[in-house]
Amino acid sequence: MTSTAPTASVDLTLRTLPTGALPTSTCSTQLLDAPWDVDARDPGYGPGASMSDAIPAASPRQGEIPREYREASAEELDRRIRAAKAQLGERVVVLGHFYQRDEVVQYADYVGDSFQLATAAKGHREAEAIIFCGVHFMAETADLLSTPEQAVILPNLAAGCSMADMADIDQVEECWEQLMEVYAEEAAAAGEDAPAPVIPVTYMNSSAAIKGFVGRHGGIVCTSSNAAAVLEWAFARGRQVLFLPDQHLGRNTAKAMGVGLEEMAMWNPRRPLGGNEEQALREAKVLLWHGFCSVHKRFTTAQIDTARAEHPGVRVIVHPECPMPVVDAADESGSTDYIRRAIEGASEPTTFAIGTEINLVQRLAAQHPQHTIFCLDPVVCPCSTMYRIHPGYLAWVLEALCEGTVLNRITVGEDVAEPARVALERMLAVRPAPVR
Ligand code: SF4
Repeated sequence: MTSTAPTASVDLTLRTLPTGALPTSTCSTQLLDAPWDVDARDPGYGPGASMSDAIPAASPRQGEIPREYREASAEELDRRIRAAKAQLGERVVVLGHFYQRDEVVQYADYVGDSFQLATAAKGHREAEAIIFCGVHFMAETADLLSTPEQAVILPNLAAGCSMADMADIDQVEECWEQLMEVYAEEAAAAGEDAPAPVIPVTYMNSSAAIKGFVGRHGGIVCTSSNAAAVLEWAFARGRQVLFLPDQHLGRNTAKAMGVGLEEMAMWNPRRPLGGNEEQALREAKVLLWHGFCSVHKRFTTAQIDTARAEHPGVRVIVHPECPMPVVDAADESGSTDYIRRAIEGASEPTTFAIGTEINLVQRLAAQHPQHTIFCLDPVVCPCSTMYRIHPGYLAWVLEALCEGTVLNRITVGEDVAEPARVALERMLAVRPAPVR
């Protein structure tokens, strides 16, 4: 994981599109607005793929940052960020997620997926501050894995994750209570030594509260790289898995392991028993929480058909957060790291159609000019919440650190952190996620 110079910015793509083409070429013309304007007026996720998702009322809002950062030119922000980083030296580590815009990623000491970045931060015990240019749950994970003395900073507090927010801790506790009532008789009859009826599994893309919940109930965390190994671990301990919060990763992974669709049920937290009959719940092997990623939900089989028609021989790789028909129609599916390695490993010039967030796809295309690489979705539509991080926010938190002030610190209380770490440690014992 290394920092990269800006080469294929989504910002630039948006700004160079002819104005008349914007409404059809992007998911919202509001993508051209400054994020502080969005933060000031919009309590939602902001323009981008998640803009239509319902945001929880308690989601953090970002207060206005000083005018000097809002009005500074790109050149001035660049100079100030580099100067602040140079002054702080090893006292700070800047992390940039694969889906972050290039205007921010260029300052990252490490670029990777959320777990790679959290573990990278763990290797820098000398750093007083870890600035996470990603979203809220990622900063929480970094806090779980860092020392109590280290401050994890999210430059814009409004950078949440719509998928993680779809599994609210109160809803999950309520679901668990209902499930335990359904299984009470049979659990009592089976005796203490029988496998637990349900093992909760949560995707890394969930809040620390949900990770703590699964830790407390004998469960485990997974990434998109190790979901199958983690499900195997869970099936060895219980006869049913409750998979949170991404239904698509859960369904795609279980299906690839041979679990039939008729053995999966969906849990809709807004309906009694998740919208299921008791009998159907008892017979299910996997309960899928009704969550999804609005970035990956945009990909369709029609886009794959078009790519194959226009680019004979194209290699289609999609992320397993995509809906099942899309994963089935693709040539391969895998995590962001899998996609990156697949492209790096192609020895002959190849055409790739990729189903994941556009910032990563455009960056890969710029880094591998010997290949033709394009995003399956022709509409420019980044992850809304990653897009809330802007160099202005990064300059603001860095310069405050130079003055000895920690802004936007993300902390996880020990009552949640302790069981959450247990769930993460169980995952590491199953199969360490690849770190490079
Ligand atoms: S890409 Fe999807 S899962 Fe990832 S941060 Fe954005 S909304 Fe959340």
